[in-house]
Amino acid sequence: MSTLITGIGSLVTNDPGIGAGPLGLVEDAAVVVDGDRIAWVGPAAAAPAADESFDAAGRALLPGFVDSHSHLVFAGDRTAEFNARMSGQSYSAGGIRTTVAATRAASDAELDANLARFLREALRQGTTTVECKSGYGLTVEDEARALRIAAGHTPETTYLGAHVVAPEFADDPAGYVELVTGEMLDACAPHAKWVDVFCERGAFDGDQARAVLTAGAARGLVPRVHANQLSYGPGVQLAVELGAASADHCTHLTDEDVAALAGSDTVATLLPGAEFSTRAAYPNARRLLDAGAAVALSTDCNPGSSFTSSMAFCIAVAVREMGMTPDEAVHAATATGARALRRTDVGTVTVGARADLLLLDAPSHVHLAYRPGVPLTAAVWRNGVREV
Ligand SMILES: [Zn+2]
Repeated sequence: MSTLITGIGSLVTNDPGIGAGPLGLVEDAAVVVDGDRIAWVGPAAAAPAADESFDAAGRALLPGFVDSHSHLVFAGDRTAEFNARMSGQSYSAGGIRTTVAATRAASDAELDANLARFLREALRQGTTTVECKSGYGLTVEDEARALRIAAGHTPETTYLGAHVVAPEFADDPAGYVELVTGEMLDACAPHAKWVDVFCERGAFDGDQARAVLTAGAARGLVPRVHANQLSYGPGVQLAVELGAASADHCTHLTDEDVAALAGSDTVATLLPGAEFSTRAAYPNARRLLDAGAAVALSTDCNPGSSFTSSMAFCIAVAVREMGMTPDEAVHAATATGARALRRTDVGTVTVGARADLLLLDAPSHVHLAYRPGVPLTAAVWRNGVREV
């Protein structure tokens, strides 16, 4: 079954070979979807016939968002903590333990239903690819089940046993790193594609982070790192040195950190929802882009420090507060997000790519930043199937 989507006022392809600029913009465009893939892209006047047709009525079509950083296997919420923080208290990594207690107490069915609910919420907002981390179990069994549950919904699963030191190991962090790099890794590796660590004061230092990432890599997991979020530190340099797909947060960077990212294949993934929700200073996307680094945007959706699943919100904040142009922010939320997951089949509207598409109730992708907070989803296709 093929579908011709025609009457596209403005099409973001992310292929400069197809259209104008880095977004590869095509006006008065059409796309043919065949099965779960894109079969044809070009001007509407030249479009081939298909079994069915859909009139976009002059609206903008873009690749579905690629959210390359989330923490969605959890139970409970932290409304009270957020309320307290917004009433004058500060954020530290320790609040994660509140969610750990609630997650351990939840059944598999509860965790699965909660994850499905948030993935559906993201899909309604145009997100068609989601990476999902463990990290609220912190025991061998609880981390393995988090990844098993996540793997039922997405291939982008990340082992984050090294989120914080488990409460049982408060007096023995070295013992916890031994568990994370040993028995817990053995139980989790079969369900994970990536290995991650929260490299930060109050979580794991550079040596501990290196141990976690190299042990994961030895088991075939590819590193990604929570790096330089709350303070300057070794996370970014470690990510680049170990060939991580992504260094995430990148809020406190030295000139050397920026240069290292610019000279590497490691994507700098910025998560403005975290700074928004902790009332902290935003990362400087302009500095990274001007240096030549690849910049992705992601939600960091989690119940503690960034409880948003909205990529559109992240785009709007990145444009208003982080020095990105609307074009750069949309590219970061789609094509560069895909690069942060080392995926070539999502994040573009090109022949052979997955038919993951977002139709906006607007004539241009610029409206994602121009109309902040407004629900602009008109339709969403995932794997060629109309889902919204
Ligand atoms: Zn995170």
